[in-house]
Amino acid sequence: MVAVPRPLPEATTETQEFWDGLKRQELRIQRCRTCGRGYFYPRPFCPRPGCHSRDVEWITASGRGRLHSYVIVHRGHPAFPAPYVLAVVELDEGGRMFTNITGLDVPTPEQLPIDAEVEVVFVEVEGVALAHFRLVEARSG
Ligand SMILES: [Zn+2]
Repeated sequence: MVAVPRPLPEATTETQEFWDGLKRQELRIQRCRTCGRGYFYPRPFCPRPGCHSRDVEWITASGRGRLHSYVIVHRGHPAFPAPYVLAVVELDEGGRMFTNITGLDVPTPEQLPIDAEVEVVFVEVEGVALAHFRLVEARSG
């Protein structure tokens, strides 16, 4: 088997704060001071239709959110062995992140109800800190 290097993200001027936050195990996102909504990915203006304010700030998100959508990838790639879950998570503060859901050996749709509660998991891959998410177990009672 030929080793295939995993492609890794590279910070840009606009995303540096996000990547630096992950190294400290902080989920840094931006929030609009005009409409109060959080958003992701980082950019210098609010993406909300009708707002587009440039009065934005960085905040540390709670790391909590809900499963907005996902696919279970069954046909892997040498750099990304299958199966794995590619997901969109809606953060509690606002904004949606493209990410992986971890903690499931063999993920099935039954384990991944839309709107399920998720929380961030900080992982390190080849020296780069990444934000993945895992399901929050439903509390009884
Ligand atoms: Zn706004």
